[in-house]
Amino acid sequence: MSHDAVSRPIALITGASVGIGREFARQLAARGNDLVLVARDAARLDETAESIRTEFAVDVETIAADLMSKSGLATVDKRLADTARPIDILVNNAGFGLRAPFEESPIQDELGHLDLLVTVPMRLCHTALQHMLPRSRGTIINIASVAGFTPRGTYGAAKAWVLSFSRWANITYKSRGITVTAIAPGFVHTEFHDRMKVSKKSVPSFMWLTAEQLVRGGLRDVDRGKGVSVPSFRYKFVVWLTTWMPSRVIAAGALRGR
Ligand code: NAP
Repeated sequence: MSHDAVSRPIALITGASVGIGREFARQLAARGNDLVLVARDAARLDETAESIRTEFAVDVETIAADLMSKSGLATVDKRLADTARPIDILVNNAGFGLRAPFEESPIQDELGHLDLLVTVPMRLCHTALQHMLPRSRGTIINIASVAGFTPRGTYGAAKAWVLSFSRWANITYKSRGITVTAIAPGFVHTEFHDRMKVSKKSVPSFMWLTAEQLVRGGLRDVDRGKGVSVPSFRYKFVVWLTTWMPSRVIAAGALRGR
């Protein structure tokens, strides 16, 4: 891709200050994309933006917004709809997990969780398509989870929505120039589990991926136009196991790491 400032494509990434989103920002910048980075913590977002500008010499905008608030989501949606600086790549990545068992989890927490994992990516995909379809060009990446292939509470159910939606959307829009790929990570070293306040010790070390490995494998599948990507052989194997093992057994295994 060209490094010409006029023609550089622009990628908008949610949850881009740390973790998997930050790694998408780095690897997409390395491929010659300008960036729009979204997260709530403005200071951390600015830090990430500055380090990427310095390392890759691309333009980086930041939007400090809470996607679980109406105004925050509207701000990001408006940027996606800006035809003067169209978005070529949308990465729906922002997310978190809830620690409490479903029946003990306050319903407001569950609703906010469902919003961030499902309603927000659906709305941003919808807006992106309005502007990508007339240009017959665009890439949408939705971060799902291997949990989406397993019975794993409301988190697994929300990620199953992401997998199903992306699989369908890729079939539907590919012939019109837009690919939609759900990337399903297994355990990845980020702040995700610390924020949930769950121990990472119950998960064997060989099951952990780095964000670098995950994103590199995911982008390879995006380039191939796949609807669903499960980076790494170990997690391809885990997903294969879920197709024939009894749900009860998979659910018991999936509780590890919570
Ligand atoms: P992370 O290190 O905790 O990063 C989460 C990012 O999302 C941060 O940039 C955070 O920044 C942002 N964010 C959270 N809530 C937000 C909100 N309401 N509005 C805007 N931004 C928000 O987690 P991660 O592991 O990189 O997670 C990224 C995605 O991967 C998630 O969708 C997660 O479900 C998925 N995933 C992760 C794993 C794993 O093992 N790590 C496995 C499977 C799937 P602020 O706090 O500043 O907003």
